[in-house]
Amino acid sequence: MHKLARLDKKYVWHPFTQMRDWAKRESIVLARGKGAVLEDVHEKKFLDANASIWTNLHGHNHPKLNAALQRQLKKVAHTSALGFANEPAALLAERLVKSAKGSLKKVFFSDDGSTALEVALKMSYEFTRRTGRSRAPKFLSLAGAYHGDTVGAVSVGHIDLFHKAYGGLLFKSDKVMAPYCYRCPFNRAKPERADARVTRKCNWECVGKVEAKLKPRKYAAFVVEPRVQGAAGMIAHPEGWLKRVGEAVRASGAQLIADEVMTGFGRTGTKFACQKEKVSPDFLCVAKGLTGGYLPMAATLTTQAVFDEFLGEYDEFKTFFHGHSYTGNQLGSAAALASLDILQSADSKKKRRTLEKLLRDELQALWSLASVGDVRQEGLVAGVELVADWRTRKAFPLKAQVGIRVCEAMARRGVLTRPIGNVIPLLPPYCTTSAQLRKMVRVLREAITEELGGAPV
Ligand code: PMP
Repeated sequence: MHKLARLDKKYVWHPFTQMRDWAKRESIVLARGKGAVLEDVHEKKFLDANASIWTNLHGHNHPKLNAALQRQLKKVAHTSALGFANEPAALLAERLVKSAKGSLKKVFFSDDGSTALEVALKMSYEFTRRTGRSRAPKFLSLAGAYHGDTVGAVSVGHIDLFHKAYGGLLFKSDKVMAPYCYRCPFNRAKPERADARVTRKCNWECVGKVEAKLKPRKYAAFVVEPRVQGAAGMIAHPEGWLKRVGEAVRASGAQLIADEVMTGFGRTGTKFACQKEKVSPDFLCVAKGLTGGYLPMAATLTTQAVFDEFLGEYDEFKTFFHGHSYTGNQLGSAAALASLDILQSADSKKKRRTLEKLLRDELQALWSLASVGDVRQEGLVAGVELVADWRTRKAFPLKAQVGIRVCEAMARRGVLTRPIGNVIPLLPPYCTTSAQLRKMVRVLREAITEELGGAPV
């Protein structure tokens, strides 16, 4: 075993990992990266097929990002936003507001996706109380919702496996049906497999459920990942759901918190997923790709109205009492500015479009495998749901570790991604070449066949 793997096993406690299994398995120690390729300490190369847990946009070791960081390093790495302004954070705030368009005018920086959500939840809660809409406002979010691991973010999450144990620590929030077409109890709008095609028309029952929940007007906000729910299993929402739900939220007087931690910065095709359906949220939470996947940094964008509710005389203490040590970090902001430059270039836009189409075409080859139940794609986010029986959509039991086994078989063939239960995500960095993308999908197909037989049907 490599000495670094030994050190890691001795000292590091890994996130979302059964450490007993980790101790038994040989770990991959990553040392270098270039573009969509990562290299381990043995110089074995891997394709980064989930963009290092959905963070990386333009590839590793990008010359423009590296140069931006080096320029910033010559000035200063970090100064506190508690009491002081700085150049890259001010420029970045302006860029974010201009990119978000609509009514989002103010930017509150923090460290990661979870904190971006905490900020939005606290602001929305206090805004709702101060404006007199409710004294004890609640939050509504989707079944399967995942918005981070801090206690507030977990409170609006609805994945029992992760969240149930901490029930006693959390505030109560309500849950409503997600538009998960593949497992919709009302109709069979999916999958696209010829013999299981739409048998009944979709009547937007899922939107009706949201409307019914919103009726009593007790919510501060509806929290949602627009267009695709990531950790719920890469659940791509049907076209039109977001628009309808956005209107219902607006009509109820509640606010809309868009969690674009995964979907932001071109992942779904538009700069922000909300823009695809022309929905303007009251809060836009971004992190992961904000710095191009280089540094932990997040932002919560909000409206002038929310900002104004926190204005007052000093001794009215209307201040938003919240802040993290690294808020507005200068290095992170410099990386984010460089990343936005690349993202907005014509070359990057063209590459993303080409890649999205190629991914769509390549994924078609998976439908013929017996253990592939659904193949979902939204922009450059794809999820392949593996099932024990595609005819009945019966799920594999989690303890069979089907997703883990398939991803390990992929890693052996030089492609890295991380399963979500029985769903295999593919989120290629935007710099991925056609040959690399084809390899990602081919290796996924081989790994499914190796682990699950996969007799074509
Ligand atoms: N929201 C969404 C939609 C996410 O996907 C994640 C992370 N996977 C988070 C919030 C939490 O972000 P972080 O891990 O940076 O705290």
